[in-house]
Amino acid sequence: MRLLDRGNYVRNGSSAYMDSPQSIGHDVTISAPHMHAAALEYLEAYLRPGMRALDLGSGTGYLTVAMMLMVTEGGNQDGAAFGIEYVEPLVPWSIDNIRKDGKGHWFDNPGSFMVKSGDGSKGWAEKGPFHAIHVGAAAPKVPKPLVDQLACPGRMVIPVGPRGGSQELLLVDKDVAGNVKTRSVMGVRYVPFHMDGTEPYTA
Ligand code: SAH
Repeated sequence: MRLLDRGNYVRNGSSAYMDSPQSIGHDVTISAPHMHAAALEYLEAYLRPGMRALDLGSGTGYLTVAMMLMVTEGGNQDGAAFGIEYVEPLVPWSIDNIRKDGKGHWFDNPGSFMVKSGDGSKGWAEKGPFHAIHVGAAAPKVPKPLVDQLACPGRMVIPVGPRGGSQELLLVDKDVAGNVKTRSVMGVRYVPFHMDGTEPYTA
């Protein structure tokens, strides 16, 4: 997180470094730094150099960049990170943020770094499978396509629960044999994740 500047990813620079979420318009927020840090720590073993990451609800672009920095650490060329954001106008803004932060050259290689608009609950099968999947908004249920797109082994960090209600941060782990286990690590509060028409995962 020291390798990127949160000041390039917020609307109001004067509160960029406060440990709280901030509005980025469209009724959504950039997560607080401690939540970004928690997500990255839970995913650390799946963000080693050369691994593949997917960030759903990429918003400002901040966490997609943090993941890309980890999977390409030491100049690794195989590492890849992709973001999908539902609110279309946020995508060009996030691309500007990433350029301002000095990472614009990553867009020269769309095979390893890309941000697009769309419904992230479907995942991005063509770019998978992914060792690490991060969902940045609270889903009513775990979307099945995302579990399908996890690598063996792989981990997804996803807040699950009703809008404005009791939500939990879940770790969905797929082992080398493809077995899936889910556990809750903490209570959280996130904006809603859309998954209209996407099949939920059932164990
Ligand atoms: N990690 C981001 C979080 C932004 S808030 C950041 O810190 O900048 C969560 C984002 O999820 C919002 O921008 C919201 O528009 C987006 N979102 C909600 N449902 C989505 C979906 N189905 N697919 C992609 N993005 C979604």
